Amino acid sequence: MAKSKVYFAANGATNWAEAKAVKAKVLFYMAGLDKCIKPGDSVAIKIHNGEWNRSACLRPEDVATIVEEVKKCGGKPFVTDTTTLTYHLFNSRYDEIHALRGSYRHGFAPNSMQCPVVIADGWIGHDDVRVDIPDGNILKETYIGRALAGADVLINLAHAKGHPITSFGGCLKNIGIGAQSKRGKYVTHLSMWGDPSDAIGYPLVNGQNCGGKSCKWAKFCEQGCPEGAITITDDGIDFNYEKCRLCYSCQVTCMFTGESTIGFRDDYFPYAQIAMSDAAKGCLNLFDPDKVGYMAYIQDVSPECDCFPWAGIPIVPDVGIVAGKDIVAMDAAILDLIDKAPNYPGSRADALGLKPGDNKFLAVNLADPRIAVRAAQKINMGTMDYELETYEAILTPENMNYGQIEDEPTTLLLRKQYEKVGHVTKGQGVEPFKRAKFVEGAWKQFAK
Ligand code: SF4
Ligand code: SF4
Repeated sequence: MAKSKVYFAANGATNWAEAKAVKAKVLFYMAGLDKCIKPGDSVAIKIHNGEWNRSACLRPEDVATIVEEVKKCGGKPFVTDTTTLTYHLFNSRYDEIHALRGSYRHGFAPNSMQCPVVIADGWIGHDDVRVDIPDGNILKETYIGRALAGADVLINLAHAKGHPITSFGGCLKNIGIGAQSKRGKYVTHLSMWGDPSDAIGYPLVNGQNCGGKSCKWAKFCEQGCPEGAITITDDGIDFNYEKCRLCYSCQVTCMFTGESTIGFRDDYFPYAQIAMSDAAKGCLNLFDPDKVGYMAYIQDVSPECDCFPWAGIPIVPDVGIVAGKDIVAMDAAILDLIDKAPNYPGSRADALGLKPGDNKFLAVNLADPRIAVRAAQKINMGTMDYELETYEAILTPENMNYGQIEDEPTTLLLRKQYEKVGHVTKGQGVEPFKRAKFVEGAWKQFAK
């Protein structure tokens, strides 16, 4: 298989051409994402709209920038994400109305995106399309949000960050979990795999660690189960495996309050990554490969995912933007770029003393993030053998206006206004302000 191209622009700017939004627009065309779109095509721009109180999501401008280019290509964009399972007690995305409230609060709203913002799997996550994954490593079927499944073009616009279960969330996760409807997410979480008692597809319950009603979190883990599968007794826990659908709420409550009763088998994590890649393949099976493109912002790379209601200190400084047409090459390149980056001061990577080149998510989230990437490569989703082409933005008189709000300088537009209605008072320039006497060196009295 030939090497796949991944296009990269580094973080940082000192002039117009180096602005992040401008570089994102340039990469969109370098990677050939414009060629996915024919005039009139409906274009799903899949983002992670972020959990309530999550402060490390994509920024509205990161997405609006791409919406603008899709429109220039004649596409009809809509920004989309799906409902989720109840990942924690106060989950904000379990249904459409809450998912949209959170999305708008993050700035992913029709007025800022200048296009519809859609929850792809409907009111409560049941509006989906079943797809076969004949070559899946674990999964043989999944369910994709109907609005996303029905689009002509998919632009997978990911935020690169960590994840405590899949270790890393990039392009594979943005559709391997993010395009799945509710039952797609149940399947991807492996709730239908194996026998409940083996705890591969179900929570691992160490009942001997549970203090029962004397645990100060007891009512929360009971209330946190949407299926009513948990009863806390005077001296322990009664866990009903038949009711559980593996939403992660009870694990998150127990583990993140510092308790140790409900958790995961260690080998759940690699299997979850493999299933995620299978589910991503299920999503891509709905599209012609020529109609799918990828971009990712490697910024605010916190250890946990945008589905968490908080954001830890990023493990590396912002790295930049990547774009491409091969989902495997994209995630392989993103992981390499993160590994090469220095530690962010005060982060977990810093506390662990990691060196540039170390496998950062393996160290921080205790699972090798490339398991998902290798699993995706094995089922021919792409290749980890990639070539990184770096775009160096150089300011020239010809490109100075590229990506600006107007093609011509807005100073000229203002000049037209001044010529018509005057600056302050027509015919008087900045007068009649009274001029004050200038005293040489007056600022120095504030120097210390
Ligand atoms: S939070 Fe954990 S330890 Fe506390 S009652 Fe619930 S299961 Fe038991
Ligand atoms: S018992 Fe199952 S369904 Fe209930 S909160 Fe835990 S993982 Fe979710």
